[in-house]
Amino acid sequence: MKKTKNTKRLANMLLKNYVLSYFGITVFVLIFLVTTLLVALALYININRLDINDAAKIMKDNYKEIDTTEIEKLNGFLEIVDSSHKVIYRKGNNPLNTTQYTPRMYYEMYEIFNNETKQMQALVGYDKLEKKYVFSTAYNKDKDFLLVIAVPEKEYFRSLVYERKLTPKNYLLVVIALNILMFIVFFLIVSRITSKNLTKPLKLLTKGAREISKGNYDARIELKSKNEFGELRDAFNNMAEKIAVERTLKEKAEENRKNLILDISHDLKNPLSSILGYSEYILKDSNLSQEEIIKYIETIRQNSERANKLIMDLFEFSKLESSEFKLNLVKQDICEFLRELIAVYIPQFEDKNIDYEFDIPEESAFIEFEAKNLDRALSNLIINSIKYNSQNTKVIIKTYVADNFLQIIIDDNGIGIPKSMQEHIFNPFVRVDASRNSESGGTGLGLAISKEIIEKHRGTIELQSDTDKGCKFIVKLPIN
Ligand code: ATP
Ligand code: MG
Repeated sequence: MKKTKNTKRLANMLLKNYVLSYFGITVFVLIFLVTTLLVALALYININRLDINDAAKIMKDNYKEIDTTEIEKLNGFLEIVDSSHKVIYRKGNNPLNTTQYTPRMYYEMYEIFNNETKQMQALVGYDKLEKKYVFSTAYNKDKDFLLVIAVPEKEYFRSLVYERKLTPKNYLLVVIALNILMFIVFFLIVSRITSKNLTKPLKLLTKGAREISKGNYDARIELKSKNEFGELRDAFNNMAEKIAVERTLKEKAEENRKNLILDISHDLKNPLSSILGYSEYILKDSNLSQEEIIKYIETIRQNSERANKLIMDLFEFSKLESSEFKLNLVKQDICEFLRELIAVYIPQFEDKNIDYEFDIPEESAFIEFEAKNLDRALSNLIINSIKYNSQNTKVIIKTYVADNFLQIIIDDNGIGIPKSMQEHIFNPFVRVDASRNSESGGTGLGLAISKEIIEKHRGTIELQSDTDKGCKFIVKLPIN
């Protein structure tokens, strides 16, 4: 279900991209049309007015030199009128063939139209013309004549027709080139957007993977994405996190292994050198008395026992730690088992004058456990409570069921274990009294073995303690 939802997210992004591209193309087409039009206006057609309406511009002292081709092309005419209003020169076709201007006509041409740029009204005198004409006049002061240009209105407007600057073929080439250019720009933009959404996350992921392969396990991927790339980022970061944790664990395990070897050799060194020393002493000195020999052999025996216990414990601990180790679980009454176990230690409690109180339910409680190993685990807790505490200490052992767990509590009010050591006390070779030669001190493997056995039973062991506040070991074993 979740997967479908997630798949939609990338699909949504792609859909968004497509829709954007679609609108982009539409906008592009619009821009293209407008540009084409603008280019057409700018390049293809060009408004080119003839100067026929501006007589002053084409004025020349020698009026015969005035170029009249355009005027004649448009069916217009040019007339030169002297100061006596007589038409002295004409080019083009004046349908009225005027030879003499009336004073009114001359006045109008001179006063009103002189130097005015555009006028398109038929005038007095020329109102008889069949077509309407556009007039323009200019007066030549030096040569004292009036220049009159007239072009039929229709032709005049036709002359304003836009002129082509480019040939159709060139125009088409320009438009196509412009079109291609704009398409390139458009697709560059679209590919940029797509790249931002698709290639950027991929690049970041590749970079992260490279960092990890280089051994930089702190590398994390920073990517703001809610789609599959976001999931990939999370999976990647989780993986990196796990690798980092695994690596730390591995380093720690390696260090523990080294320390274990150091501890073993250290703990074996003392009894072994003692054994070696005393046996050499007995062998070399023939003057030793019988009692002395017995005393030394006793020391040798004690040290052998110590070395043997260490080796046996170590062997047991390694066996428990090996992946092949399997408990031989049997469903049996744990209460009965506990009563029998505790009974064994009553003489030791009494010998050391340690107060005890046991609270084991009368009724049976059947759970699966292996008697031999659980005996080993719990015995160590009971022996510790006797071994490390002085007389008049009170030890309470009780059992009850809570939350599907059978809880076994071994609680004493003795010297306790400092809070700072609680975290490590279940590690092999950890002892509160660091001096390893101490007579009372064991191997420091007891609690490590107890913990392994209890965990093999899918249970837990926990310690609540502090210096002078005693130790409370809470063992929980699953009922089912
Ligand atoms: P082993 O059990 O192999 O003979 P050990 O008793 O030294 O050796 P653990 O049983 O692991 O090893 O105990 C570790 C240390 O914890 C002990 O050396 C002791 O200092 C301390 N300790 C354990 N139980 C108690 C207790 N009930 N009261 C005070 N200290 C304790
Ligand atoms: Mg012990």
